[in-house]
Amino acid sequence: TQTATLEKEEETQGTEKKEEALPIVRYRKVSKSFGENQVLKEVDFDLMPGERVAIIGPSGSGKTTLARLLMTLEKPTSGTIEVDGRQLWHKEVKGKLVEANEKHLHEVRGDIGMVFQHFNLFPHMTILRNLTEAPVKVLGLSKEEARERAMGMLEKVGLTDKAKAYPANLSGGQQQRVAIARALVMRPKVMLFDEPTSALDPETVGEVLDVIKEIAAEGEMAMMLITHEMSFARDVSDRVAFFDEGCIQEQGPPSKLFVQPESERLQSFLSRFN
Ligand code: ADP
Repeated sequence: TQTATLEKEEETQGTEKKEEALPIVRYRKVSKSFGENQVLKEVDFDLMPGERVAIIGPSGSGKTTLARLLMTLEKPTSGTIEVDGRQLWHKEVKGKLVEANEKHLHEVRGDIGMVFQHFNLFPHMTILRNLTEAPVKVLGLSKEEARERAMGMLEKVGLTDKAKAYPANLSGGQQQRVAIARALVMRPKVMLFDEPTSALDPETVGEVLDVIKEIAAEGEMAMMLITHEMSFARDVSDRVAFFDEGCIQEQGPPSKLFVQPESERLQSFLSRFN
């Protein structure tokens, strides 16, 4: 009967919230341990369609682990993660949840574009080829379609003149802009950025942040941005989540969070950037 009551409650809540969109990403009670080390502690986190959330917080607080779980590079110790209504590690078969196979994971991953700290471009391929490879092989686009799409993206990140160059001939900032374009050609529903500028020379950080800001300003795409750049977080996000010791300690619009942080921890964290 307890389950029945719970279901009923969920149903009522469901009707009350009818007009709200469903989250594109939903973490529920997600925990992750590496051996004895509990890195994430029952994290609840929603990302709404079109929403931009900046995730800030000290090193070692679990931000990258949060991202790696979404990319299915790690599996949660407990809890669930959904992308666009589909669970990452489980699949519904005849009304029952079963362990998902590689095909299912592959499909869900296709909804997410990721840009890491290190760009990981294919060194032996031209920039254009770096961008057309996955659309042809994974999405099944024709070479011509993929080329068109790739050139459009290179234009967006300001690098059309580098189409025939190789990664080694580009600066770090330019390579990272290519990595962003490479994620975007797949037209993901969610873009995930994990400290996209922290491996860059200081003078190229700005160009990469500008490209991300432009994408954020124009698109409908949801974005999760892990960053140490506070002014960037403030400019680009609708919401900022302060992550510390494995969970979200405080969150809110940047105008609130940066101006009137409530917890002492956040106040002390932010004071380091002043
Ligand atoms: P952040 O991104 O906030 O700096 P991380 O998610 O990278 O934090 O790391 C959080 C903690 O998890 C750290 O203590 C780190 O050592 C640990 N950790 C991360 N990945 C692994 C792993 N694959 N194996 C063991 N420990 C890990």
